[in-house]
Formats: sequence, structure tokens, C-alpha cells
Amino acid sequence: MNPAFSICVYCGSRPGHDPLHATTAQAVGRWIGSHRGQLVYGGGRTGLMGLTAEATRAAGGRVVGIIPRNLVDKELANHLCDELHVVDTMHERKAMMSTRSDAFIALPGGIGTLEELFEIWTWRQLGYHDKPVGILNLGGYYDALLDFLAHTVHKGLMDTWQMNLVHIGEDPLALLEMLRAKIRGDAG
Ligand code: AMP
Repeated sequence: MNPAFSICVYCGSRPGHDPLHATTAQAVGRWIGSHRGQLVYGGGRTGLMGLTAEATRAAGGRVVGIIPRNLVDKELANHLCDELHVVDTMHERKAMMSTRSDAFIALPGGIGTLEELFEIWTWRQLGYHDKPVGILNLGGYYDALLDFLAHTVHKGLMDTWQMNLVHIGEDPLALLEMLRAKIRGDAG
């Protein structure tokens, strides 16, 4: 199958306490699979990541996992990926996740998710890529972070145009549709 698009999902390597996070990770995977999409992700089988990958495959989508060697050694790699790339460094992994994807979305997650989101956002502001980036503010999960970012704008350490480089949404499927429309270059 030639995927219609590739979307990189950043999300927790843990499931978290809120069942909505798990069901949403599955819904995101199902959406990718049912739209003939390809998931690009960190290649693990734990937490929200694993659920997204499993649901993508179950819905007929392709899964590309990119994982550094030291995490494979901890036996956390998802060998059910259609493509599993084992790379030497974290930098290599993130560069490959970026080049293999048409768009990026951050679901709820921890420090790894935040780091990936901020890196791809920074690369966008520097013009290293021009691919759409979304933040799923599921149930207000990222409210405190978004407040802090508004504070950085208020203090003059960030500009509104930088904020406007990311698409923030609370509805997972609406945000995914929007990113897909951006990939296709639809108006708006
Ligand atoms: P975190 O949000 O801290 O749980 O980290 C999750 C993010 O970092 C994911 O988007 C992954 O790309 C990466 N990551 C962290 N831990 C792992 C792991 N054990 N296996 C694969 N990827 C991981």
C-alpha cells in the first residue's frame, strides 16, 4: 500500500491515569489507518505510543517506528511495525522522524513528547521545514503549558507569529482533518 500521507505522532510512553488519553490514542491510530495513512513514531510498544501504533495497524494503516539502539536493548521496540528503524542516536531518530513525516501532532505526554514537540516547532520557526504541527489539547491537558507560552509572548520573549506556527485543537479528529488538509494544500 502506498500511504496517502505520513503523520508523526508524539505521545506518552506511559498510558497515564486518564482513560480518555488511552481511548484518544486509539482513535488517532484508527483515524490514520482508516484514511490510508502512515504513522511515524518512536517505535515503542508501551503507553499511548503503543496503543496508537496498534490501532493504526488494526485499521489497515502502515506503521514506521524509529528507535535508538539502547531502547531496543531494553526490549521496548515494537517489532510489529511495518518498518522498524534502529538508529544509533536520539538525534538521528528525530531527524528521521521529521523527514519521513508530512505533519506532526503531539498528544498528551511527558518530557519526551514535550521535547519532540518543541524541537519540531523550533525547526519550523527557523525554516528547516514547513510542515504543519498540531497540539492536541485534550481535555485541557496542555492548558498550563499554553498559559506559560502566552506569558512568554506577554514578556516579549516570543512573538505571536511563532505561537501561530502551531495548530492547537481539542477535538482529535478535527485536528487530524485539519492537518491532512494542510498536507494536501487545501484552502485555509
Ligand atoms: P514521554 O512523553 O516522556 O513518555 O516520551 C514519549 C516520547 O518520547 C515519544 O513520542 C517517543 O518518541 C519518545 N520515547 C520515550 N520513551 C520511549 C520508549 N521507551 N520507546 C520509544 N520511544 C520513546
